[in-house]
Amino acid sequence: MSIGVNQVGFEVEASATDDVEAVLNEPVWGPSTCAVHRGRRANPYHAISEPVVQAATYTFKNTSDLCNYKQLTLLNHADGRNEYGRYGNPTIAAAETRLAALEAAEDALLFPSGMAAITTALLGLLETGDHLLLTDDCYRQTRLFCQDFLKRLGIHCSIVPFGDNQALQRAIQPNTRLILSETPTNPYLRILDLEFLVEIAHRHGVKTLIDTTFATPLNLRPLEWGIDLVVHSATKYLAGHNDLLCGCLAGDKEIISGLREYQGMSGAIADPACASLLLRGLKTLGLRIERTNSSAQVIAEGLEAHPAIERVWYPGLASHPDHAIAHRQLSGFGGVMSFTVKGGGEAASRFIDALEIPLIATSLGGAETLVSQPALMAYYELTRQERQALGIQDNLVRLAVGIEDTRDLIADINQGLNMVI
Ligand SMILES: *Cc1c(COP(=O)(O)O)cnc(C)c1O
Repeated sequence: MSIGVNQVGFEVEASATDDVEAVLNEPVWGPSTCAVHRGRRANPYHAISEPVVQAATYTFKNTSDLCNYKQLTLLNHADGRNEYGRYGNPTIAAAETRLAALEAAEDALLFPSGMAAITTALLGLLETGDHLLLTDDCYRQTRLFCQDFLKRLGIHCSIVPFGDNQALQRAIQPNTRLILSETPTNPYLRILDLEFLVEIAHRHGVKTLIDTTFATPLNLRPLEWGIDLVVHSATKYLAGHNDLLCGCLAGDKEIISGLREYQGMSGAIADPACASLLLRGLKTLGLRIERTNSSAQVIAEGLEAHPAIERVWYPGLASHPDHAIAHRQLSGFGGVMSFTVKGGGEAASRFIDALEIPLIATSLGGAETLVSQPALMAYYELTRQERQALGIQDNLVRLAVGIEDTRDLIADINQGLNMVI
């Protein structure tokens, strides 16, 4: 189909989108169906899996082909055709389409890590003189970047206590451009009141960026609540197998295309092989989250009733401070919980060492159940006083439930707790 004539006189043809399987009037599918099918495109091999296009650059048949492509790019019409690897890749595009569908977003961007997604969003959205609000109980590297690094660029950050709506409101300044928060948080699984946050942000003309790595789009889709931009460490549940690092941003076309342009400059580009593994991991996202949600609920209830346990933090428990908000906003309470073991840090270590199935490791979201003592895994270099100031007790244990059989995990946890009492 001719859609015009370019600067050097060639007829401009509509791009290769015609052979793309994805249809414009897409049916409204549930998240598990999206996780299996969205982003699939016809390929010359009729392969069911997305081909890994391991290419740094792309060729043009002749000058007319090149000019045609350039003209289509100017008209924003060159979907499916690429020029250079930093600006686009078909395997990455397929992953981005799938991620956008899962978040009910207009568009999404893939990054080589969750931190690359977060830092690109912040550097792309903020400028010197801007102010940013961050809630505490957030990912440590995110806090360090906001507090220490952005300051060097003249971007200032205020940290407000999570869940303190008054403090959040008071902290907004005339130059506040962005509120960054997480839900559920690490390690206390605090849940954001998205309705309140969006209301405040809209009233002050401030953008919102939420890290929902712990929730996944299966349990929460913040854009549907009016949040502007969502970030994930796709390393965790989205990829789901503890074998790659990647991250993503999802939001409306305007915000994502601005960040895409910035990504093309900064070069924080994911690689096609990683996008292919992510596409594969995503196919089982629905099943994995269903299992981890249900196992974690049963395990959290069992821990709460156990005499060797002081306290459990899990949003699916009525005892959790944010249980009511979680009940309203989440469609599942997730796979991560924290708890304190009676008998102090040494008893917590004895419990962890007695476990046979959960592996001692940081991170979450893979098939394997992981366990760690945050005081040692994440805050080893701090003194006990410094850790306590951050609310990290020595006897705190974080459990990220995997997809093993629930009863095996329960039996193992019970035998581990027998070592404590
Ligand atoms: C892991 C994690 C990150 C960082 O993601 P990477 O993929 O490791 O760079 C950011 N936020 C949260 C909540 C995380 O769990």
